[in-house]
Amino acid sequence: MTTAAPAKKIPAAPTWDLDSVFPGGSSSEQFKQHRLAVKQSLAATDALVGQLPESIDSANLDSWVKAVLKMQTDMENIELILAFAGCLSSANVKDTEAMSIEAEGDLYYSEWQKIETIIQDKFLKLADEQWRLLVEQAEIKPVAFYLNEVRDLGQRKMSVDKESLALDLAVNGYHAWGRLYDKMSGDLKVQFEEKGQTTPMSLGQLATKMSDPDRSIRKQAFEKMTASWETQEELAAITLNSIAGYRLSLYKNRGWDDFMYEPLHNSRMEQKTLDTMWSVISRETPKLKPFIEAKKKLLGIDKFSWYDEFAPVGKADTQYTFEEAGQFIIDNMKDFSTDMADFVKMALDKRWVEAEDRADKRGGAFCTGMGHHRQSRVFMTYGGSFENLLTLAHELGHAYHGWVLKDSPYYATHYPMNLAETASIFAETLVTDAALAVTEDPQTKLMLLEQKIQSAYVMFCDIHSRYIFERSFYNARKEGVVGASQLRELMVAAQKKAFGPLLDETGYHPLFWCSKLHFYITGAAFYNFPYTFGYLFSGGVYDRAKKEGSAFAEGYRGLLADTGSMTTEDVAKKHLKVDLTEEEFWNNAVARSLSDIDEFVKLAGSL
Ligand SMILES: [Zn+2]
Repeated sequence: MTTAAPAKKIPAAPTWDLDSVFPGGSSSEQFKQHRLAVKQSLAATDALVGQLPESIDSANLDSWVKAVLKMQTDMENIELILAFAGCLSSANVKDTEAMSIEAEGDLYYSEWQKIETIIQDKFLKLADEQWRLLVEQAEIKPVAFYLNEVRDLGQRKMSVDKESLALDLAVNGYHAWGRLYDKMSGDLKVQFEEKGQTTPMSLGQLATKMSDPDRSIRKQAFEKMTASWETQEELAAITLNSIAGYRLSLYKNRGWDDFMYEPLHNSRMEQKTLDTMWSVISRETPKLKPFIEAKKKLLGIDKFSWYDEFAPVGKADTQYTFEEAGQFIIDNMKDFSTDMADFVKMALDKRWVEAEDRADKRGGAFCTGMGHHRQSRVFMTYGGSFENLLTLAHELGHAYHGWVLKDSPYYATHYPMNLAETASIFAETLVTDAALAVTEDPQTKLMLLEQKIQSAYVMFCDIHSRYIFERSFYNARKEGVVGASQLRELMVAAQKKAFGPLLDETGYHPLFWCSKLHFYITGAAFYNFPYTFGYLFSGGVYDRAKKEGSAFAEGYRGLLADTGSMTTEDVAKKHLKVDLTEEEFWNNAVARSLSDIDEFVKLAGSL
């Protein structure tokens, strides 16, 4: 690790190589040919699927296998279009050609979905023994898990006609409520006062003020955000009720009594696993109290409020060149897994990372696959801070997950959201701990420890309160429309339960149901527990790696490889030898998350 001075000017971080995938960016001839091939292939697949008989026998088995595999290839090729165009438009927001190619990709995707509806309908009409004959074919077997899942879900849904009508209506009904929310929150502006100046700010800009070291700034940001949502509260309540109402009607028509069926199915996990996780968390959360007390002392405050959550503590001045950051990651992965370290070295050598800090680039960071090339590309803006180094490690963790799955057929590479962050958080934790082990500076140490414990605080309290709120809201919504004042009450009750003694009585956020985007995302219901699950699951895997060292590296690889073709409980049972429905795994994972509290409290007291 470098000990360079804060003012060190670091050289520009590298750009990525996209030309080896398709040379020439959005005007690439090869890319154009690929899109044309996809378009032609979809027409052929449509005809192939349309001609499939509604039963399987030895004479037509081959055409069934061919159709299933062809759909898989088409989807992977469509994903390549979307990923490649997405990389181009992220790296240059002025690349309008790339944006229209993305729209072209969306069109192919919707065509693919239509064909999928037809083949799914045929799946449902097959007798069970015919279905088994199909999924036991050598070429199909590796994706049998995925196909069984598609068929099982189909059997639990309404008829294909009704489902496709519901999909059509959702565009301008259900999803429109989500778009309306985005517009509503995007339009909200406040007048922010700082250093004698008044500046108009969006809620997004205001959010960055919530981590300001000055409490009066944080307080003002929170109060102005709340006041602006108060002006839209009734509209937000209608929106939230409509989204939930749509879901509940759909579930009712499908015969699904439990609103958790869909989110749990999407995460390939059982309610019992989730209940066990939350019950351990509820029991252990009060152990965060000494952390909150120490943080209060450091901040010089006597009541811990919602807006103190992200108040910064300690600081890190060290700057890392991109090369140093990469080397730091490789060096620290090496002891655990040479496979992972070699992968990172290869990804950096082959320029799979777009990191340069420049204008006309989108914000944020992501990692994407490159279709049948079975490579990844990481997008980020690297400025030299430790946070940037962590982002690099996080995204390279995702890339390693993709690499481990590179020999699996496409349908077996789809892992659920709750397992998606396993490899990325693992890499981040490994790097944070490595930095903690070498740093001498108490302020840096304090900052690193605080970041780690703060993650636990967010996962155990904030995210938990969202889950409790949504459960009570959905139960109330079943009985009828839930008014704004009742939504406030449910929200505060959920926060009281999840935060317990950690948050001061005056410090709740009654309008959190308005301000939190996740409640309004129509793409996924209950978009909360997968975060906490993923965080703790990754922690459990990391714990195993710590105990067994490099002996676990192969097991880790195997675990990641199975995330696309097993239930969450089965992945844990096979690779960690643990039962996720039992408390033991969660006890250990939660204890590990809280294990830095003593050191933090001691260090905070000595400064
Ligand atoms: Zn991630």
